[in-house]
Amino acid sequence: MVGGGEVAWRKTTQLVEAGARVVVNALQVDDRLRQLAEVGCVRFVEEIFDETLVAEAVLVIAATSDPQTNAAVSAAARRHRVLCNAVDDLQNCSFILPATVQRGDVTVAVSTAGSAPVLARRIKAQIEEMLPVRIGALAAFAHRWRPQVKKALGTIRQRRRLWEDVFDGEIAGHVLAGREADAHRRMTERLARPDDAARGQAWLVGAGPGDAGLMTLRGKELLARADVVLYDRLVAKDILRFARREAELVFVGKRPGESWTQERINSLLVESVRAGKRVCRLKGGDPFVFGRGGEEVEALSKAGLDYEIVPGVTAALACAAYAGIPLTHRSAAHAVWLGTGHAAVDGAEPDWAALARGGDTLALYMSVRRLPQIAARLQANGRAASTLCAIVENGTTPQQRVLRATLGSIADNAARYAIESPAVLFVGDAVGLAPQQPWFAPERLIDANALDADPSSLQTAIQL
Ligand code: SAH
Repeated sequence: MVGGGEVAWRKTTQLVEAGARVVVNALQVDDRLRQLAEVGCVRFVEEIFDETLVAEAVLVIAATSDPQTNAAVSAAARRHRVLCNAVDDLQNCSFILPATVQRGDVTVAVSTAGSAPVLARRIKAQIEEMLPVRIGALAAFAHRWRPQVKKALGTIRQRRRLWEDVFDGEIAGHVLAGREADAHRRMTERLARPDDAARGQAWLVGAGPGDAGLMTLRGKELLARADVVLYDRLVAKDILRFARREAELVFVGKRPGESWTQERINSLLVESVRAGKRVCRLKGGDPFVFGRGGEEVEALSKAGLDYEIVPGVTAALACAAYAGIPLTHRSAAHAVWLGTGHAAVDGAEPDWAALARGGDTLALYMSVRRLPQIAARLQANGRAASTLCAIVENGTTPQQRVLRATLGSIADNAARYAIESPAVLFVGDAVGLAPQQPWFAPERLIDANALDADPSSLQTAIQL
């Protein structure tokens, strides 16, 4: 430690607490610093900076108030290949000291690479608030049990799984609440049943419509634990980052040249769970809304495997919210249909008469390709050509576009503005209740109804 003032005192205190033997080299030594010699191993060399001391050190801290001395200390440290930290002087540092939160064996370090120490301390304060007070006790508990766990469970995967269960569940709850005896008892019971840690599980998780912030906390939690992730085309890449780095990510959607059949997905799912893996089946939107989640659950339950289902924000709800369309409204819409423009079985038709009933809002998935037929059938079954419609394309993503039109004009307009899948078609009076300016991506609104009234604004719209 080169320097003997307030800063040197603070840093020396921390070093002593960490068990270091500290040599303080300074012309003048603060009284508080001197007192540290009573609690730890501190020696004082009260003279000007002495380079030979550097050669014997493991770490050097330059904490004088004189920048030139600090620079000289740093240069000497470099010559001797000793790590050096110059306080508040990034250029003369070969390492920086992060702000740390310490609870027993648990240390959290926050670094801003030296660019904003005050920010680092703010973050540290936030983490301090977040961490349970007894988190150190939890680490100590784990430390005590590690040898026994290693003996009882043969594979790394079994052990990881056990610890995840411990930290996520009742056992950690006991430790954090100070009920150590209960925690030990439960741990003994758990190790008596080592097979529990080998059982595979399937989690059907809705990833939401695109924006990663719209996934549920539970979904994120399970995704972060999975050994294998089976994901679809509509799952945003951002979301896959929540998976563990070692997790096996398998794309099971459609892409040119390769298309996974539902049977193949089902059997991969079942086989992986049977092999003892934790499989996260990640689906766009909600697993049970046009997601064939029902068929996967059937396969799992027939095979007698454990599963959990986590709902997601389905495209219709997300697109309506992001386009400002209230799906129900006391004055305009009393029911919502989630439907598609085609039937489940080839050749069969949806119940158009039911779909066309006034007073309901229709939210139709997978409707872009059959837009002309859908619009025609709804009109043939009694919905007026003037019924308001909106298509939300790539809802909730930065590419979101909203096209407003009427039942009579929607198909032509969708073709003119090259609307593509994925998109949801909304039909009904509630569409007209959306504010003129949507709150999200207002610059990407195409209002064909307004354009029909004022064709001079057409040019700008086409540029969109
Ligand atoms: N399970 C999903 C639906 C899968 S079917 C869910 O609950 O949302 C695929 C259809 O969903 C697409 O054809 C489209 O109609 C709709 N869709 C999915 N994501 C969308 C998005 N971000 N924007 C608009 N429509 C979307």
